Amino acid sequence: MEKNTAATLLGALKKQKYHLVGSHSAVKRCKWLYESIINDRPCYKQKFYGVKSHRCIQMTPSLYYCTQQCLFCWRAQSGDLQVTWDEMKIPKIDPPETIVEGCFEAQEKILTGYKGNPKTNWRKFQEALTPKQVAISLTGEPTLYEPLGELIRAFHQKGLTTFLVSNGTLPTKLSKLSQEPTQLYISVCAPNEQIYKQVCRPEFPSAWAKLNETLDLLSSFHCPTAVRMTLVKELNMHNVDEYAKLVKKANPTYIETKAYMHIGFSNLRLGFERMPMHGEVKDFAQQLAAKTGYMIIDEAPESRVVLLSRLQKPIHVGGD
Ligand code: SF4
Ligand code: SF4
Repeated sequence: MEKNTAATLLGALKKQKYHLVGSHSAVKRCKWLYESIINDRPCYKQKFYGVKSHRCIQMTPSLYYCTQQCLFCWRAQSGDLQVTWDEMKIPKIDPPETIVEGCFEAQEKILTGYKGNPKTNWRKFQEALTPKQVAISLTGEPTLYEPLGELIRAFHQKGLTTFLVSNGTLPTKLSKLSQEPTQLYISVCAPNEQIYKQVCRPEFPSAWAKLNETLDLLSSFHCPTAVRMTLVKELNMHNVDEYAKLVKKANPTYIETKAYMHIGFSNLRLGFERMPMHGEVKDFAQQLAAKTGYMIIDEAPESRVVLLSRLQKPIHVGGD
């Protein structure tokens, strides 16, 4: 990436409170880390899966890089801010151990801000200093980072659980992961190729076929898997039959249907009115349940997310 391009991006990202780690990774304070420590309101993943929001690092190993340019993405994309770069290749690969250490340091810096807050829950603050969960999901496509399996293993060795979110366009990378995450998410945000091209704007022509390959191999993973659908009003909340076929192909442990949120750089591409209400997300989930045989087993209206599964209740992976 050219120097002035990098400087423009960096400025914008710092304004949005990204903490850069090495040359292609970043940590950002999740809203729910704050809510948990200050207002005792954890995120829906604590409610569903037991991972603790106040002990969670939200990071990415591929800050500027992805194989898609989803309209609803909060990532800075090439072309936003009048700067462009090759999004498909991470030019210099930082070692996994350096990224893990950098993430711990960034999280510690984030937590320093709570020391002066009179509403800080001190028990949670102390616990937060030893993170137990990492969401490898902030922005970008993590499978573009070649040693992703080693990064996951390095986090596990430090005692963290890992939730990995991928857009599924690089099935070979996923199938060759040297270490599975604790839970694997694949984003499925379109029911067919035509809508996929419109909403997810892939960077290469065979991306839809590749995503379908990933869905085919999903049941070969040993960890719990989730198909995540980010729903945008008037864009991808229809054709439930076709979504149901994709779900049947993948046979995931869970489906998470979630409303698009009008935040980050997505503001440049979509209006506020594109966010569905929780009731609309639930209505979509009910239609999907009827077509797939999955059951609605939980929901979090404050995050506009509905959880479906064939299990009666989700598996808690978070421990104490
Ligand atoms: S699991 Fe996700 S939503 Fe919950 S605290 Fe971590 S990054 Fe935030
Ligand atoms: S796949 Fe994820 S990171 Fe990539 S453009 Fe879409 S939402 Fe953004």
